[in-house]
Amino acid sequence: MDLSKHIDSAHKAFSDWKKVPFHNRQKLLLKLAEVLEKNKEKYAKIITTEMHKPISQSTAEIEKSAGLIKFYAQAENILEPEHIKTEFNVSEVHYDALGIILGVMPWNFPFWQVLRFAVPAILAGNVVVLKHASICFGSGDEIESAFAEAGFPKYIFQNLRIGHNEIKEILENPLVRGVSLTGSEKAGSEVASLAGKNIKKSILELGGSDAFIVLEDSDFEKAAKDGPLAKLSNTGQICNAAKRFIVHEKIKKDFLPLFIEEYNSFQPADPFKMETKLSKMARPDLADELENQYKKALKNGAEVVLALERISESEFRPGIISVKEGNPILQEELFGPLAILMIGKNDEEILRLANDIPFGLGNSVWTKDKKRAQFFIDNLESGTVSINKTTSSDTRLPFGGAKSSGYGVELSLHAIKEFTQVKTVVGN
Ligand code: NDP
Repeated sequence: MDLSKHIDSAHKAFSDWKKVPFHNRQKLLLKLAEVLEKNKEKYAKIITTEMHKPISQSTAEIEKSAGLIKFYAQAENILEPEHIKTEFNVSEVHYDALGIILGVMPWNFPFWQVLRFAVPAILAGNVVVLKHASICFGSGDEIESAFAEAGFPKYIFQNLRIGHNEIKEILENPLVRGVSLTGSEKAGSEVASLAGKNIKKSILELGGSDAFIVLEDSDFEKAAKDGPLAKLSNTGQICNAAKRFIVHEKIKKDFLPLFIEEYNSFQPADPFKMETKLSKMARPDLADELENQYKKALKNGAEVVLALERISESEFRPGIISVKEGNPILQEELFGPLAILMIGKNDEEILRLANDIPFGLGNSVWTKDKKRAQFFIDNLESGTVSINKTTSSDTRLPFGGAKSSGYGVELSLHAIKEFTQVKTVVGN
């Protein structure tokens, strides 16, 4: 593929797009939301075909994406120049679009992850080139067509069917001004290094191993009911899924049977059936990796609570392992239907267990005591803390990670400014 041709076209499109008023860009976004709603079933089928997500969850992904687009289509224009009082006649802060922004996106939410990054960037006046996960090129093509169908000018959004080795050439091109990557730490670190070498802004949304903390004074029956879905939605392949269930020892005996019963109700089935809750994993090599991590955890002292059983190339009956502090598996992300259970004696110990990982996306704490909740809010090292609810991203609220989970803000009004140049205008 002649990448420079695509980048030149994107750059030409940018010269016009940056002059389009914010409100007119929003009108096109409203049309884009309509296109998604109209084609919901078609897009959901593509997602399920490409990465095997249960069809009801693929449909929910498109609905959530349409909601995101509508949020930005109706958002306040926070890019208006700000006037700051100084001794000068004019002192203003402007927010200029940067230009071409590259998106390197994963397969776990083939529409949502792309639109989450692209919509606020485009609303700010940038244009986007996408390098999608290699198993999701069909989704990438459909998103490009949706922008066209909504009436966006050509080359505002381009899907490039390329391998990840071609990212280097894109980031070396001076017309490309930034990159947003969602994916593994390895890919994130490589892409951010390339961006840094070429002095370009990067945003990273990487892995997580979030804690789901259940204290003895909580509505633990509800926690036991909601927790399994928080782990097993999308077959456990979600960055901010609940991955480690840290339970106060006083309720271990009451909580566990309820939790396991609900967890067991997730069994792999045909992803195209509406009632299916769990499917096969996105690729066989990802299933190999999960099985190896399971064996490694057991070798290092983890105990089986519910056996992880591989029933086909990419399919598992979901498992749970009980893990103690010091097991090296705690330093890794388990991206699939395998959960970790830990038991803590008091809030300090539970907090220590929760924070003792390289990641920090969205921890969840279940307690009826506001003071105890505040202790965790103040001390958990993560981008989000959810109280008495499972963690899930909300378009209206910022989303991002702490530590090795990445940097930069996605979602909410904050995301609109992420790929802009803050320009100071001052004088008489
Ligand atoms: P990757 O991080 O490899 O893939 C995500 C995106 O990065 C894809 O577009 C991929 O392209 C690209 N990519 C891969 N390697 C590089 C590289 N060296 N340089 C630049 N870009 C690269 O995820 P995997 O599919 O391999 O999944 C592995 C693990 O990553 C999972 O088990 C999970 O732990 C984590 N992950 C986290 C996600 C999240 O939501 N935070 C989403 C997906 C994965 P290509 O497909 O062409 O390789």
